[in-house]
Amino acid sequence: MDYLQILYLIVGGLIGLFIESFSITSLRENQLRAATLSSTLFMVFALIWFASYFIFSPPDIILIVALIVVLVLATLFFMPVGSTSSLKAGPVTGRFDERDVVFSREEYQPGSDRYGQYYSMHPEYRSVDDAIRKLPELLQPGGRYYDPIESARIDAIFDEIQTMTTRVDGPVSNPRQQVDPTEITKAIKQNVLQMGADDAGIAELDPMHVYSHVGRGPHPWGEPIVNNHRYVVAFSLEMRYDPVQTAPDLPITAETASRYLLGAQISIELAEYIRSLGYPARAHISGSNYQIILPAVAHNAGLGELGRMGYLISPRLGARIRLGAVTTDLPLVVDKPVPFGVWDFCKRCLKCAINCPAGAISAAGTSDVRGVHKWQLNAEQCLRYWRTIGTDCGICMKVCPYSHPPSFVHNIVRAAIRRSSFARTVSVWGDEFFYGRKLAVN
Ligand code: SF4
Ligand code: SF4
Repeated sequence: MDYLQILYLIVGGLIGLFIESFSITSLRENQLRAATLSSTLFMVFALIWFASYFIFSPPDIILIVALIVVLVLATLFFMPVGSTSSLKAGPVTGRFDERDVVFSREEYQPGSDRYGQYYSMHPEYRSVDDAIRKLPELLQPGGRYYDPIESARIDAIFDEIQTMTTRVDGPVSNPRQQVDPTEITKAIKQNVLQMGADDAGIAELDPMHVYSHVGRGPHPWGEPIVNNHRYVVAFSLEMRYDPVQTAPDLPITAETASRYLLGAQISIELAEYIRSLGYPARAHISGSNYQIILPAVAHNAGLGELGRMGYLISPRLGARIRLGAVTTDLPLVVDKPVPFGVWDFCKRCLKCAINCPAGAISAAGTSDVRGVHKWQLNAEQCLRYWRTIGTDCGICMKVCPYSHPPSFVHNIVRAAIRRSSFARTVSVWGDEFFYGRKLAVN
């Protein structure tokens, strides 16, 4: 046996190993279609590559051609080809009013002062919001997935988070400790990760990412929001794969609630710690307490890219994350946005748009939203669907190709699509072939 033949067999062995690893990973993820198709692919490949070698003893030229084809495809797959540009953001042209957020609007009850004031300013939202308000509230009787025991348990977690809104800010200790920005940045990130976050990053707080007026929560409705903090510490928390795969049923909402609770605990503790050093800090927690637009600040802090579905997509966990943040004046070292191909991948993929039962995700191009070119979610249609089923849905998170767990095979594909436009095209085809384009939802 000469070197060429040995090389041919080694390359075939590596390809076979990769396909078989994918089968095992798919079985672990309970993706039976992908496991079956990849096992079949493994057998077909083994038959063509190895059986033909041992049965027909092909001439060297055939082995050379086969190896060249593999080399060219591997090069295209892993080499930097095409653009990895992220969303295009010019200067953001205005602040967003929290009173306009759909979760604020659904709380304006007909007959109340707030209802009268808001819809005199925005009559265009009245009929769509009235229709949403007539539907059962999330986790309440009437929703398709309502369960008296489990829904009540999840509701209790959200209630617990509400009680924490009084602890997001507080007095700043005196005297102020002198800190080294590099050291304290490292310590803060480590602290956040030790408390259970998956990733942490720092950005300068863009004033345009601060809501303009209070729309929810304990502060007076309609009051201008003032937050002049210089920095934001943003972090992400993993939503576990198995509950996400149950979407749109209750376990994904339970997972959402538990992540928000952990996010609230982390951000409140971090803000308290920073204030004890003598610097102002405010936690921003789920429900009715954000002063800032979390996906935008997390993008600037390098935690991920905004995808078509409007969620932040993280390099390691895809859309399976929830976000938390603390704003502060503690001197910190900032991170940069990290483009890793999501923008380009989403242009080809469309899977969330195809599978969204509410038709809330745009299958078209991006639009200019206050200076940022991005896909605009139809939040009213999304919320209407949530209130029909009684959960927070999450089908888009479930079907997104980036949402697979960070296993050996998925990490190799992630590494490729981070660099190569060719890999993105092939991976979109591969995802449709192995997992299906449109998923059945109960
Ligand atoms: S959560 Fe559900 S309804 Fe909302 S955008 Fe995602 S798939 Fe559509
Ligand atoms: S499902 Fe596809 S199009 Fe939608 S966010 Fe994920 S990668 Fe982008």
